[in-house]
Amino acid sequence: MSETTTGGGRRVSRRTLLIGGSAAGLGAGVGAYAARDELARMWWRLPGIDKPREAGAVDQPGAEWIAASGANWRRADRPDDYTIDRVVIHVVQGSFADAVRVFRDPGHRAAAHYVVRRDGHVAQLVRELDVAFHAGNRSYNERSIGIEHEGFVSEPSSFTDAMYRASARLTASICERYDIPRDREHIVGHVEVPGTDHTDPGRHWDWDRYIRLVRAVRVTPAAKRRT
Ligand SMILES: [Zn+2]
Repeated sequence: MSETTTGGGRRVSRRTLLIGGSAAGLGAGVGAYAARDELARMWWRLPGIDKPREAGAVDQPGAEWIAASGANWRRADRPDDYTIDRVVIHVVQGSFADAVRVFRDPGHRAAAHYVVRRDGHVAQLVRELDVAFHAGNRSYNERSIGIEHEGFVSEPSSFTDAMYRASARLTASICERYDIPRDREHIVGHVEVPGTDHTDPGRHWDWDRYIRLVRAVRVTPAAKRRT
């Protein structure tokens, strides 16, 4: 759940703020508080509700926000409407710039939540709340966070130490945010998604090394927080 800090420094949930704002128009009366509380709980469970979002906000501290085209993902309310229990690892078959360009293109019809560059720079293009079209499988899209990596499956030199480490920090943080075990059952390659014809991340992606790095990451409280 997200939190915002009021001017007085008191931490209140954004959920409370929003419901408080919308309920104010109903007028206050006897029992209004209880009714409002009930309304809040029901209302929040409805799918497709537009939650207020901060422009440019990222889920991963330090990530650069670059918005994907709205045609390449769909608005959701995860993990409230869909449980997130998978991280899907991809390789772009191109550069970081290529990935960003196509994810911003409404004609591409696909995007991942994140792209990791060979120097370790991380860009976020879709909020973790939302369903990005990256796995080629609807239920996997709904249950996962997708991470693209700059480079080519056929080129072992694509996968640099900086990339592995940055990606491992990202995956470890995602696992902490959604209580996902840091193992190969829950951190999968695109190639392992049922029904896919994609082969990424390919045989040069060092899974043993990657999982070791993911497990070694100590996630900071800021990175654990869900937005
Ligand atoms: Zn892929």
